[in-house]
Amino acid sequence: MSIWRGGKLNNNGGKLNNSGGKANNIGNKNFGDSSLDNYFNNSNLNSSLDKLKEKKLFILDMDGTFYLGNRILDGSLDFIEKLRKTGRDFLFFTNNASKTSEFYIKKLAAMGCEITAKNIATAGDVTIEFLHENYPGKSVYLVGTPLLEEEFERKGIKLIQDNPDIVVVSFDLTLTYEKLSKACTFIRNGSEFIATHMDINCPTEDGFIPDCGSICAAIITSTGVKPRYLGKPFKETIEMIERITGYKKEEMVIIGDRLYTDIATGFNNGVTSILVLTGETKMEDLEGSNIKPDYVFQSLKNIIEWL
Ligand SMILES: [Mg+2]
Repeated sequence: MSIWRGGKLNNNGGKLNNSGGKANNIGNKNFGDSSLDNYFNNSNLNSSLDKLKEKKLFILDMDGTFYLGNRILDGSLDFIEKLRKTGRDFLFFTNNASKTSEFYIKKLAAMGCEITAKNIATAGDVTIEFLHENYPGKSVYLVGTPLLEEEFERKGIKLIQDNPDIVVVSFDLTLTYEKLSKACTFIRNGSEFIATHMDINCPTEDGFIPDCGSICAAIITSTGVKPRYLGKPFKETIEMIERITGYKKEEMVIIGDRLYTDIATGFNNGVTSILVLTGETKMEDLEGSNIKPDYVFQSLKNIIEWL
């Protein structure tokens, strides 16, 4: 465990402030929005984009990338169809560990997108893998939803209510003062502190609600201890994806709408990244960011012709 000495909460444990790295320029082609033309300027457009044809695994964010809330984005199903037709694999990956893979399989099916368990993983899955790998047989106090509790137990993690070896904090929509207080006490008494992901807020139809990073902030303030964050953008996520899919980093592309999670996963870990502008990030955010995607497209729909 390490002691938190201040600084930006959304920057602990990761290399989010890397400078350098340049987005591949996409010349004066129109990728669905002419404002992109003003930002990029490169004569090697076609050869650069041809690299996408060599990629074998497409890691997809969901909310803001594939759908918005409960509404699927135009072209998303065609995007998956093109991947299938060209013999490529895909994996949906979300930091939202308040739900399980099963939940997302049903949600996607309701939108007309049929996938199997091998096409989906969450930050909860990364955490379970991480625990098995680094803390085999250790006990865990979980600050998470009942769905996540079930998933931990189903996958062989020993959950207990007192004196755990490790406290795992997640996006707990069933958080109580008692849970928060117990987590702080255990951490103060020496339990390891792990967080499934670092997102501060979760977007909903009614605006932002506090996510895992905000719950961690309360615990950090009380205990002075900061967690080890997992999920996007950390290397453990890419390591887990390599293990479960068998693909190497060079064969992957990660696509998402958030710079500090989706794109940083690629930028920090040597995986090609594509930013789509259907969710959180606008062009003006990109100009001021040190985290640079390799490519920028208006939406998944605009990528199809390059696959
Ligand atoms: Mg998103």
